[in-house]
Amino acid sequence: MKYDKQPLYYGGQRHTTATTFQDIDPSTNQPLADICKADQHAVHAAITAAQAAFPVWSTMTTMERSRILLRAVALLRQRNDELAVVETHDTGKPFSETSAVDVVTGADVLEYYANLVASGGLNGETTQLRPDAWLYTTKAPLGVCAGIGAWNYPIQIALWKSAPCLAAGNCMVYKPSEFTPLHALRLAEIYSEAGVPPGVFNVVQGDGAVGGLLTSHPAIAKVSFTGQVSTGCKVAAAAASNMKYVTMELGGKSPCIILPDAELDNAVDGAMMANFFSTGQVCTNGTRVFVPQSMLRSFEQRLLQKMADIRPGDLMDPNTNFGPLVSKTHHDKVTKYIQHGIETDKAKLLAGGLGKPTLPATVDANGYWVKPTVFTNCTDDMLITKDEIFGPVLCILPYADNRPGYVEKLVQRANNTTMGLAAGVFTKNIDLGHRVVAQLHAGITWVNTWGESPAEMPVGGWKMSGLGVENGRKGLDNWVQNKSTLVEMGGAVATSFSKL
Ligand code: NDP
Repeated sequence: MKYDKQPLYYGGQRHTTATTFQDIDPSTNQPLADICKADQHAVHAAITAAQAAFPVWSTMTTMERSRILLRAVALLRQRNDELAVVETHDTGKPFSETSAVDVVTGADVLEYYANLVASGGLNGETTQLRPDAWLYTTKAPLGVCAGIGAWNYPIQIALWKSAPCLAAGNCMVYKPSEFTPLHALRLAEIYSEAGVPPGVFNVVQGDGAVGGLLTSHPAIAKVSFTGQVSTGCKVAAAAASNMKYVTMELGGKSPCIILPDAELDNAVDGAMMANFFSTGQVCTNGTRVFVPQSMLRSFEQRLLQKMADIRPGDLMDPNTNFGPLVSKTHHDKVTKYIQHGIETDKAKLLAGGLGKPTLPATVDANGYWVKPTVFTNCTDDMLITKDEIFGPVLCILPYADNRPGYVEKLVQRANNTTMGLAAGVFTKNIDLGHRVVAQLHAGITWVNTWGESPAEMPVGGWKMSGLGVENGRKGLDNWVQNKSTLVEMGGAVATSFSKL
């Protein structure tokens, strides 16, 4: 499969550039498309187009903006499978996943914000201060914003950023990851077809240097970033130089706590979702699975049985539920961690390990495959239990559940990380479940489930995992600035300059 050369998109038009880079298909290690690379001039032109569009878009009524964005939702849903095929080629995720999750969850968020702004979501507050004075607040859009995306959920990330941004009246220049660029032009053209005016949503392509041009540009009012903690620190530092707003959706090393009374099958299903969905390339993965000693053997056995249902294969086959990793760079990184777990951490390898999984003969073995891997008897000081691996590597950390105070100790271990993106607990004791969740230092938490992230749920990390939230009502507040107005009707300005 080879796609046409992908242009940039700004001011409602495609723009080609002389310099290109190659997008590689992770399932074959073959070129998928040549992508036009933005230079300083192109980034500036895209920002200028967005600045020109801002007065038009920001002054439309919320009902008008909502109507246009809802047309884009309908187009996304009509073209779900077509867009999902593109995402499968670009990311290596099976079509069974991209067709059910990636476009669907992006369109849901766009629908949510289009409806929210049309039903008063941008209203401020009114306070009667005195009989003859009142205070009101209004929410104003920020201006031209930059979106910078990661490669694991390309179109979903582009929509989770652009939906509240545009619904609030802002314009956006979006830079996808250089590893997964194909969705961006398609999304931009869907917005245009729906009636979004030229310049409101623009796409520049390229690597981190192009992201750097956006984060340092004085005309950008806000940067919404999804990526690694280390990159997030650089982006936030660049944005600070002229006081840009930032939202940072960064990495995690999240704890998945199985309490001794948990329902075994549900707990194992949760741990599987938290580690093997999307070949483990999910930011909220619960990669530190704390299992009570009393349940360890049965948990391991049931996990191994259920792992027989992980089916790597032809990505377009509806039965396939496990794909290769996104890129060679990432494949090499994940493989190194598996090797480190075996050779240096000396964790007990329960399943998987180095090498490729068994693939059907029809599947190209040159893809960036790794085996779903489980290490058990892990301890808190191992590198594999400390670093974000971002691959299908599940670490079981057994804990003694026969001593008083073991829950408190467990919570301390779970919180003993610099990151705080997600956390979850499995138990039949709902009181205990709530008590444990209340003590976990993480922004996204689950009880007896893992991974669901609907449009209504604000998501964002604590500690080094991020700043601000995406989605939900709170997500909209990250795209507006507040104005407070005090109105005096009594005619007399309170002053200390009156005559004595
Ligand atoms: P990276 O941090 O490597 O890259 C993210 C984006 O930033 C890419 O578009 C990248 O460009 C760009 N970039 C790189 N350097 C700079 C720079 N100096 N200035 C501006 N932009 C820059 O992350 P990955 O793409 O590897 O994504 C995986 C990470 O994302 C994981 O840590 C994961 O946990 C996290 N993530 C967090 C989510 C959340 O909601 N909290 C959701 C999804 C993922 P390019 O890649 O083209 O070089």
